[in-house]
Amino acid sequence: MQIVADLHTHTIASTHAYSTVYEMARGAKNRGLIAIGITDHGPDMADGPHEWHFSNLDILPRQIEGVTVIRGIEFNICPGGALDHIKESSLKPIEFALASFHECCFAPSTKAAHTEALEAVLQDKRVNALGHPGNAKYDFDKEYIISRCNQYDKLVEINSNSFAIRKGSRENCTEIAQLCKKYQVPIVVDSDSHIEYRVGCVDNALSMLEEIGFPEELVINSSRERLDSYFRGRGLHLFE
Ligand SMILES: [Zn+2]
Ligand SMILES: [Zn+2]
Repeated sequence: MQIVADLHTHTIASTHAYSTVYEMARGAKNRGLIAIGITDHGPDMADGPHEWHFSNLDILPRQIEGVTVIRGIEFNICPGGALDHIKESSLKPIEFALASFHECCFAPSTKAAHTEALEAVLQDKRVNALGHPGNAKYDFDKEYIISRCNQYDKLVEINSNSFAIRKGSRENCTEIAQLCKKYQVPIVVDSDSHIEYRVGCVDNALSMLEEIGFPEELVINSSRERLDSYFRGRGLHLFE
């Protein structure tokens, strides 16, 4: 299995990331990818961009260096499951949205509180995918949430960066992927890269998925056809 697109990346619009949009697209090209999602942190993160970053995203060309650029955001999940403070009008250009727990916006709490927040996120139509749900600091009722993802048209992200940063995340990601397989929930495999050189680095995630015999047809970014079909199903024609 391989990926053809990386749908979770950050640019210097968040100051703890170090490459420009152009450089990230070049990183994707060097990795042989056909598309990249630029998904900077929502404005509630201390160094996330102002909401004008998002409202102006439609000036990005559809292709940079031959790589299709998808305009995105990584929302911060706040207690109770609300997302960043941002006007609906600022989100108009957004084509792909992840929603994730980050400690600055939601201090790790109880399993029940995390599950309740994720249940609210499931019902939020602005969100495409649950971002890095394998983070061991945010335990949740995995079966309860994953089994409801298809009903709410939510993807689950297997975030390769999670494997490197936190003990316990590999086990969590494996359990989550197994539940996605059981409930036939489509996933997206991403790098969460904060610099050009790591775009498309998802070997840890892919080797885990191979170990558990995860069906390739459920990985929406594993082929051009699957990626295209996912976005076409949501009204976006990426490759025209
Ligand atoms: Zn970040
Ligand atoms: Zn994140």
